[in-house]
Amino acid sequence: MANKEVLVQVKNLKKHFNVGPKAVLKAVDNVSFDIYKGETLGLVGESGCGKTTCGRTVMGLYKATDGEVIFGGDVNVHKLNKKEKKDFARKSQIILQDPYASLNPRMTVGDIIGEGIDIHNIHSGKKRTERIFELLQLVGLNKEHASRFPHEFSGGQRQRIGIARALAIEPEFIVCDEPISALDVSIQAQVVNLLIKLQEEFGLTYLFIAHDLSMVKHISDRIGVMYLGNMAELTTSEKLFAEPLHPYTQALLSAIPVPDPEVERTKERIPLEGEIPSPINPKPGCRFATRCRYVKDICKEQTPELLEVKEGHFVACHLVK
Ligand code: SF4
Repeated sequence: MANKEVLVQVKNLKKHFNVGPKAVLKAVDNVSFDIYKGETLGLVGESGCGKTTCGRTVMGLYKATDGEVIFGGDVNVHKLNKKEKKDFARKSQIILQDPYASLNPRMTVGDIIGEGIDIHNIHSGKKRTERIFELLQLVGLNKEHASRFPHEFSGGQRQRIGIARALAIEPEFIVCDEPISALDVSIQAQVVNLLIKLQEEFGLTYLFIAHDLSMVKHISDRIGVMYLGNMAELTTSEKLFAEPLHPYTQALLSAIPVPDPEVERTKERIPLEGEIPSPINPKPGCRFATRCRYVKDICKEQTPELLEVKEGHFVACHLVK
C-alpha cells in the first residue's frame, strides 16, 4: 500500500448544477478526502450518489462550485495557469466506463494510443511506434493490433486499449470512472487485475469509481462511500468490510452475497427501504434519514459532519461518535 504522502487533496468540494428556476442539484456537496500517492481510493455508492461527478470535478473536467482540489501539494486544479494546465494534463488521466464510446471509431488503435504522445511531444517516428507496441503489450494486446480499428475488438479488449491510451503519457494519477461496469463479469476481474499490475509496476495512484462493492474491495486500499452528494464513511477496505459503522454502508454490505452457504443463509440482510430524497434543493439534516432504521429527531434537523471516530475511520452519522 501507499506511503502517506498525499497526492490529491479534496477540500470541501461542491459541484452544484442549476436545473431550473431556483432549483439546484447538489451532486457533490461539501466532500473532503485525501488520496495518498500509490494508493487506490475506491469511491462507491448507488447510481446518482455523485461519485462520477466527484471524480470529474477532481480531474477539473467540471468546474467546482466551491472548495478546492490540490494536486501534488501546491497545484490548485481549479485555478491552473497555462503551464500548470499542461503539466496537470500530462500527470492525470481518466479511464471511462464505456470504452467503445470513448474510442474514435475512425482512428486506428495505434493512433488512438499515440494521440497523447503527439500532443505532449513525448516521442516521434520510430520511437513513437515502438512505444505504442510496448503499451499494447503492457495491457495484454500485441503489436498487430495497432493497425486495427476499435470495432474489431471485444469490450474487454477495448477497455485495455483505453488503459493503454491513458498510460501513454506516463501519468501519476488516473481516475477510473466505472471502468468495469459495462463489461461481462468474467472480464471484470481481468481488467481489475491488469490495473493492479500496472499500479505496482508504475507506482500509479487511482481514484476508482464503481458501484460494485466486492470488486472495489479487491482493488482499493481505502474506500469512500457516498450517499446523495455527501461522504457517509471513509476508511481502509479491511475496516469497512470488517466493521462498517454508517447505517448506509451496513445496508450495502449486507446485500453482498457471501461464498459460504451457511453464512449466506443465516446472515442478516438490511433492506434499503424508504423514499430517496431528491438531490435538488435538499433539506437540512442527514440525507439518509428517510431510509435509516436508526433515524432520530436530530437527524432531520442537523447534517452530520464526517468525523474521525476511530483512527483512520471517518463517519458522518449522529449516532456514531
Ligand atoms: Fe441514520 Fe441519523 Fe446516522 Fe443519518 S445521522 S445515518 S439518519 S442515524
